[in-house]
Amino acid sequence: MRNSAFVYSEDCLKYNFSKTHVFRPERAYNVFHLLKEENLFGDNLNLIEPEPASREDLFLFHTKSYIEAIEQENEILLNEHGVGFGDNPFFKGISFAVKIVAGATITAALSLTKGYDVAFSFAGGLHHAHPDYAYGFCLVNDAVLAIKKLILEGYSSPGSIMYVDIDAHFGDGVVYGLYERPEVITFSLHESGRYLFPGTGFLHETGKGEGKGLKINVPLPPYSAEREFLLVTREIIVPLIEKTKPMFIVLQSGTDGYAEDPLTHLKYSPHCYSYFFKTLKKLQDKLGFKLLILGGGGYVPWFASLIWFAATMNFAFDTEFEEVLKLLKKHENVIKVPEKMEFEPDGSKGSEYYTEEFNTALENAKNLVENIPNVLDSIRQNT
Ligand SMILES: [Zn+2]
Repeated sequence: MRNSAFVYSEDCLKYNFSKTHVFRPERAYNVFHLLKEENLFGDNLNLIEPEPASREDLFLFHTKSYIEAIEQENEILLNEHGVGFGDNPFFKGISFAVKIVAGATITAALSLTKGYDVAFSFAGGLHHAHPDYAYGFCLVNDAVLAIKKLILEGYSSPGSIMYVDIDAHFGDGVVYGLYERPEVITFSLHESGRYLFPGTGFLHETGKGEGKGLKINVPLPPYSAEREFLLVTREIIVPLIEKTKPMFIVLQSGTDGYAEDPLTHLKYSPHCYSYFFKTLKKLQDKLGFKLLILGGGGYVPWFASLIWFAATMNFAFDTEFEEVLKLLKKHENVIKVPEKMEFEPDGSKGSEYYTEEFNTALENAKNLVENIPNVLDSIRQNT
C-alpha cells in the first residue's frame, strides 16, 4: 500500500480531436470511472482535481508564439505549429483542453513533493509534442513540463530524475526536450524509427553537452514480443534504476506495443505489462523513489484502460493483475475484457527475423548502463 494520488477530472475528456480520431480520451476517463464505481477513492488513493497549467508553466518548454496561437484558438496561426491537419486536427476549446491535461501532470508531479509516493495522470503522457509544434496527437508536452517543474523545485542534482518510456513510439519530444539536461536520465523502449513514427530514437542518440551519456534508447525490430520486452526490462531497466537510484521516476506507460494494436508492429503480451509494473513496484519498495505514472498511446482503448486501472490497483492497494480481471467482470459496460484474456506469460519466441538487430540494441544499452555511474561522477566533479 502506498500513499497514492490520482489526478483527474472530467474536464480532461475535452482533450478530444474528434469523435472518430484514434486518440481516445475515454481511456483515462474509464479508469477514473471504475475507481469511483468501486468506491476506491479515499485515504489510500486520493482523488486530486488538476490545476490548469498557467502560461508561465507552458513557457517552461513551449514557445510564446505557439502558446499564444493556442490561447487565441487561431486556426491560421496554429497551422504554422502543426495543428489543423493530419494527426492533429483543430478543435474548439483547444486552449482549455491543453491547460487542463498539462496541469494534471504538473499537479501530479508536485504531489510527489508533498508526501505522496505514487501519482497517476493518465490523461497525460503526450510525449511527441515539441517546443514550437504539435506532433503525433500531442499538443503539449506534459512530461517535460512536469520534469522541469521538479527541477525548479530544487530536485536538480545530476541524474535525480529518470524518464522511462515504454510506449511503442520513441518519446522524441521528451528525450530531445531534455537532451542536454544533466538532471534527467531518459530511457525509451520503442519500435525502431526505421519502421515506425517518429523515425528517430536510434542507438547513437545518447544526449549532448552535459546530458551526454544519460539518454538511452532501445529501438526494437518489428514483431518484437514478450521475450524482447522481458529481456530489456530485466537486463536494462532494472540495472539502470538500481545503479543510478533516481529520486523521481516519470513513466510514460503507452500501451500501443500490445500485440493487437492497430498502429504498431510490436507484439507484447498482457504479461509484459503486469510483469513490468510488478517489477517497478518491487524496485520502489527497495529504493524508495517517487513515481509519476502517465498514460500515452494505446489504440485498443479497452486494453489501455485495463492496464492503467490494473496498475493503479496494484500500486495503491497491492491488488494483483489477475484479481483485477475478476473485478472487471461486473463492469462489462465500462471495459469489456475478452474471455480469453490472461496475464500469464505467453512463452513467445519473439522476433525471429531480426535477432541480430535486437542483440545489437541490447548490447549497446547494456554498455551505456554500465557506464552511467561514471558519467554522473564526472558531471558532479565538473559542477
Ligand atoms: Zn505510441
